[in-house]
Amino acid sequence: MSDKYLEFANSKMGKSIVSILGLPKPPRLIREDANNPHYLSGNLRLGTTEGALYATQIKQSLEATDLNLVGEETQSCDLIFDASGVRDTDQAIELYQFFHNNISKLPRCGRVVIVGQQPSHIDNVEHAIAQRGLVGFIKSLAKEIGRKGATANLVYLNGFGHKGLAAPLRFLLSAGCAFTNGQVFSLTTPVSKLATNLSWHRPLEGKLVVVTGAARGIGLAMSQVLSRDGAKVIGVDVPQAQDQLEKVMSELGGIALALDITADDAPQLLIDCCAQQDGKLQGIVHNAGITRDKMLSRMTQQQWQLLVDINIGSIQKINQAFLSTKMLDQGGRIVGVASISGIAGNLGQSNYAYSKSAVIGMVESMAPSCAERGITINAVAPGFIETKMTAAIPFATRQFGRRLCSLSQGGLPQDVAEVVAFYLSPQASGINGNIVRVCGQNIMGA
Ligand code: NAD
Repeated sequence: MSDKYLEFANSKMGKSIVSILGLPKPPRLIREDANNPHYLSGNLRLGTTEGALYATQIKQSLEATDLNLVGEETQSCDLIFDASGVRDTDQAIELYQFFHNNISKLPRCGRVVIVGQQPSHIDNVEHAIAQRGLVGFIKSLAKEIGRKGATANLVYLNGFGHKGLAAPLRFLLSAGCAFTNGQVFSLTTPVSKLATNLSWHRPLEGKLVVVTGAARGIGLAMSQVLSRDGAKVIGVDVPQAQDQLEKVMSELGGIALALDITADDAPQLLIDCCAQQDGKLQGIVHNAGITRDKMLSRMTQQQWQLLVDINIGSIQKINQAFLSTKMLDQGGRIVGVASISGIAGNLGQSNYAYSKSAVIGMVESMAPSCAERGITINAVAPGFIETKMTAAIPFATRQFGRRLCSLSQGGLPQDVAEVVAFYLSPQASGINGNIVRVCGQNIMGA
């Protein structure tokens, strides 16, 4: 569903009316060009503090791009700051100085990235406190620059993760990061060696990826974005959606598998379908999900149980089945789709919030054992995304829901898909156990 207010607020007449009335001004966001994705160009200013650890890796990570590292004199540039050397709160003044002097240079839909050290991996208390402060800083900065359609995010390294730094840096500086704002990406798993022949343009070339709930909405966008990145998608959806699913998959050169994921034989049918295809299974994206909103006192047991079965129960069974095979092993990826409702809770959504919080629990509890097998498990937590699910929300609540974020608008399914494609890419092997909100920094659960 299109956001008519956004169109109006960006029209010639609308601009002056929203200004006079002091109404929200949602900026038009710049997203990936489907024909030329992951292309990085423009000016980038790198700032560091004394004792910064990663400046060399940051430069190396961006070598194969068309980004120009520029000096103080440049008037328009994205900003990246290596804050890893901030050892105590007094030294944080260097953070203040860099952004105080440079933030006005950020272009429309510009990008800010800060690189820091994971506080829980720092022995020195002063240093850990100084690094933890970066979270509050980036979230506030993200709110300030959201008006320009710009985003700001933080990457935490845990001392050994810098070989995997290129993947999050490139993603966070790209147009794919249009609606991911004020988030922390953590490099948690050691990346000892990355294959040198990996393609940044089509990172999933020749790989197989399962996407559930692929016939429409966010799952459809995921299938499109993953196909763009070279993957062969096995799209799964309920038998009632078979025609739509087949249409989508035939357009994308994927495989349509009409299947209710809660069926007893669903895990085995999925494994059989993957085994029949050429290409290594790169990962599974557990996107299928439903809502059954009701106040708890009026919610039927069936509304609770059906939702929990689809949104988390079936996912656990499918994971167990795949992990008991060698099909999803070294280099494999599991991606969950949570929700900001699972972080903040939401009125009338106790069943949904339970299931989405459980998806977060799945990621947190499985990340260590997955890491031992060279697998990563991560989740996205979408906010207000323009799909059939949110089109069903009453008009006034929908308008309100859209504006409650730093970017004053709902996201598009593609915005969620871009983060999922990043998680699935072979380059992101150090990113494990992350929960990233794709919500434009919605105030819910911020
Ligand atoms: P949607 O309703 O448009 O699409 C969901 C798809 O899942 C549908 O095609 C549906 O047929 C399929 N599905 C449902 N039950 C299934 C089952 N048992 N077996 C197989 N397929 C099944 O929803 P969407 O908005 O695209 O949401 C996708 C995911 O994102 C969901 O997990 C949802 O909870 C989550 N999410 C969405 C939003 C949003 O704003 N739209 C926000 C937060 C989280």
